[in-house]
Amino acid sequence: MVIIMLGAQGTGKGTVAGIISEHTGLVQLSTGDIFRKNIKEQTQLGIEANKYIAKGDLVPDEITVPMVVEYLDSEIVKNGVILDGFPRSLAQAEKLDKILAERGKKVDLVVNLTTPRDEIIDRILTRRVCSNPKCKTTYNLKMHPPIKEGICDKCGSELIQREDDSNEESINKRLEIYDNQTAPLVEYYRKKGILRTEEVSIRINRMGKQVASDIIKDIQEK
Ligand code: AMP
Repeated sequence: MVIIMLGAQGTGKGTVAGIISEHTGLVQLSTGDIFRKNIKEQTQLGIEANKYIAKGDLVPDEITVPMVVEYLDSEIVKNGVILDGFPRSLAQAEKLDKILAERGKKVDLVVNLTTPRDEIIDRILTRRVCSNPKCKTTYNLKMHPPIKEGICDKCGSELIQREDDSNEESINKRLEIYDNQTAPLVEYYRKKGILRTEEVSIRINRMGKQVASDIIKDIQEK
């Protein structure tokens, strides 16, 4: 099974994907996390990708697509995958369809998360993530703070703020790129009949946890 998480930064894609992954055994593949791991380890891929990520730009397809293909072909994703952060443009979506078709697979479900823009910006600025790459639990200082300040409840590692979350210029640029390049994918997948749109907002008292549990129920009933 192949699931895609769509939605602007800060809508909770990673959180929803993480919960679905825990309950279904589908592997969560976050392109942003793979890039961040490579940046931390100073690999060639990381050094190259960081030139774009630090500015809030998309990493070019020549770098991103082969990296995704390598993961899709690896043993760990043989039972299925939740793509979190890929595709991010029509070109990437078309490439993904082709790559999957060549492997006798297809996208089964696209989960599109929507959240009011003011809530998104507030959430990104108050987001903190576990620095342990094996844990990566996400917290929110207002809505879901850790029990002990600055420390992950799950693994005890230090919590950090992503570099690209700490300045509003980069946040606004990423949201602009989302509107221009990624949002058209909603229509692309709607036409294919595989789109499921879910509003995630404090205003309607519906957060990622609940959305994830509804999706898991539907997957397990199928
Ligand atoms: P994310 O953690 O998904 O917000 O991704 C962090 C950053 O990694 C993005 O702002 C992009 O610079 C880069 N990135 C992640 N996924 C992709 C992708 N599919 N295509 C291009 N760049 C990406």
